[in-house]
Amino acid sequence: MEDRIRRLREMLDHSDYTVALCGTGVMEESGYVAIKKQARAYEIEELYGDPPEEIFTSAYFTARPAKFFQFYRQEILNKIPEPAGSSYALAAMERAGRLQCVITTNKFEQERRAGCENVIELHGSVFQNRCPHCGEYYTVEDMKQGGTIPKCRICGSIIRPLVSLYGEMVDSRIMTRTTEEIGKAQVLLLIGTTLQSEIFSNYIRYYSGNQLVVIHREEHYTDQKADMALIGDPGEILAKLNY
Ligand SMILES: [Zn+2]
Repeated sequence: MEDRIRRLREMLDHSDYTVALCGTGVMEESGYVAIKKQARAYEIEELYGDPPEEIFTSAYFTARPAKFFQFYRQEILNKIPEPAGSSYALAAMERAGRLQCVITTNKFEQERRAGCENVIELHGSVFQNRCPHCGEYYTVEDMKQGGTIPKCRICGSIIRPLVSLYGEMVDSRIMTRTTEEIGKAQVLLLIGTTLQSEIFSNYIRYYSGNQLVVIHREEHYTDQKADMALIGDPGEILAKLNY
């Protein structure tokens, strides 16, 4: 492991453009359990009568907003995880000029809150909420306090959290920016996810380099397709790079 960390540090020091892709493993570092994870999904279905795959959709948001927001406040907004160890290590790497872009599926802005500046949030952020009618923006606190269903104080429309719900497409401008960043990368870091990731595999196709490094907690058979794999807590591994 120490040898691989040394090699990774060298790789990063010689790279002109490094991009990091961050998956659900980053949330797990902070103790957050994804709502789709079996044990939690079961718990949610017991509590709300419907599985998370059904509740966390735009169809449900439109048809049953009161139930949607009961779930959303309790299970998402009341459980926002603190920035993870890997997020702080990436921010240090960015400040040292060794990381040019972070692309994440994290809806909690963990990387940004840890200090990363060039971040693409593929699935949006719970900190961004907007009235779909008049465009007024709202904070997380507004969303927590706004009665059963949070409504716009200007026009009365139901406020929409700017996060992707299940089944929704990523905005095409964000998609383009993402493929451009990955196309520029000399070193591509895959953190807290695997090469099998449905979300990332479509983007990884745009990477043309030969320095693809996966860093995640458990071994996966797709690791052998990477140029290097480091297995363990991503926060601990990245901290050892000492940026
Ligand atoms: Zn409005």
